[in-house]
Amino acid sequence: MVTTNEHAPDKSNGAAVPRDAKMFINGAQVDALDGQTFEVHNPATGEVIARVPLAGKADVDRAVEAAQKAFEGPFAKWSAAKRGRTLAKFSDLVKRNVEDLAQIDRENVGKPISASRNESFAVSLVLEYYAGAANKHFGETIPTSMPGFDFTLREPIGVVAAIVPWNFPQNMAAWKLGPALATGNTVIIKPASWTPLSAIRLAELALEAGFPPGVVNVVTGPGGTAGAALAGHSGVGKVAFTGETTTGQEIMRLAANNVKKISLELGGKSPSVVFADADLEKFAAAAPMAVFDNAGQNCTARSRILVERSVHERLVQLVAEQTRLLAVGDPADDKTQVGSLVSQRQLERVREFVDSARDEGATLVEGGVAPADPALANGAFLMPTIFDGANADMRFIREEIFGPVVGIIPFDTEEEAVRLANSTPYGLAGSVWTRDIGRAMRVAKGIRTGTLAINSNDSIHTEAPFGGYKMSGIGRELGMHALDLYTEVKNVYVDLS
Ligand code: NAD
Repeated sequence: MVTTNEHAPDKSNGAAVPRDAKMFINGAQVDALDGQTFEVHNPATGEVIARVPLAGKADVDRAVEAAQKAFEGPFAKWSAAKRGRTLAKFSDLVKRNVEDLAQIDRENVGKPISASRNESFAVSLVLEYYAGAANKHFGETIPTSMPGFDFTLREPIGVVAAIVPWNFPQNMAAWKLGPALATGNTVIIKPASWTPLSAIRLAELALEAGFPPGVVNVVTGPGGTAGAALAGHSGVGKVAFTGETTTGQEIMRLAANNVKKISLELGGKSPSVVFADADLEKFAAAAPMAVFDNAGQNCTARSRILVERSVHERLVQLVAEQTRLLAVGDPADDKTQVGSLVSQRQLERVREFVDSARDEGATLVEGGVAPADPALANGAFLMPTIFDGANADMRFIREEIFGPVVGIIPFDTEEEAVRLANSTPYGLAGSVWTRDIGRAMRVAKGIRTGTLAINSNDSIHTEAPFGGYKMSGIGRELGMHALDLYTEVKNVYVDLS
């Protein structure tokens, strides 16, 4: 889920991962007030790589107070152009520190180093985009019935809690930091407790770029305590959340106390719909990484392949052949394409889905097992897994797995393909593969998802809106749309008499 076709330059390993990271509040590294910490692991080896402060409610209060003070302080007087210039510096610093940032999540997430570099580089591009956008988001003048002069202002909301998941820890934070800072808000990032390290580094770079202390803060700790305290805090004006749909529902309940603004980027179960006239070789070359990238822990993973029955068998064969070519292994190896899952717990969860697919009668075509390499035995690895003979009632087809598993379902008609594509509660992304432009447009219109690609799996572009229909979310991140999520609209009427 990187947001660019540009790629970070390859560099050698060796950047240091912080062993004793602290939270980042009011421009300083701090421990939890009660001194508690928790362990952070490398999922590819099972080793403990850092100890991090475990924030309690009092720490959240401290962060909110710092962010409120910063919101009311000199930062409030900054022009949009100055916010943009500082974001540009932040972007440059991220670019210069791509290797450090990439090594942190290679080690903490189990992400292949080449993919990790691309994610960190994509962060710099998102910040660069919002650096340019800061002074291009403005109000309007409105011809009212009354004879006065009416115009609107876009004003920042205040303190934003950015609660982010573990699959793309840096990108998910940057998608919120960019538009929130461009529009003059202050931010508290709550990274997932499995992957707190890179957010701390990003906050340090924001300070170095010139954002005043308290403008970007990081609180580390479990979602159920630190995250919930933020989502329910009366000093927070907005929650920008990315994560599971059930957590998003809980955030909505918590945010209700002071009617916070919320934006939610939630789960997905995205389909690829492949018609018999499609370029099957092109599809098969792209299909494996469309689902197995980031070990399948990708909200836009194309975890369902719906294929027209006349080419079903050939397509299964082609996709299986391409999948066997993937390099699964040590995330530190430059050639690795599929690394470890984020934790043993996540691996167990994915294995349950593999068992359920077998139990419900799907046919295993590839994978379903750990890699044979004994060097990977302590890591949370699973070989890319393909099931054929699936149907829409099977649990692994209905629910989001968040692991390297795809199910293939044949269909007979265009109507059936659209019905199957829409047969989950999710609506995040999808793809249509056909050479018939009329059919491509009909099916694209029929599929109820926030983003859809034709003869491609590219769902995410820094400049274009991204978000979900149905239970995949509320609001659109990225592009100029995201700026609306971080601003209030004030209407001003001037009596000219
Ligand atoms: P998660 O919902 O478990 O956690 C996300 C964040 O919420 C973490 O920081 C967590 O600590 C926090 N949290 C957990 N419980 C909380 C609570 N009660 N109150 C406040 N905060 C709480 O999600 P995850 O397992 O970290 O990430 C995987 C999920 O994220 C998948 O469902 C995936 O589809 C989704 N995701 C969506 C997008 C998107 O843009 N739509 C992008 C990436 C990931």
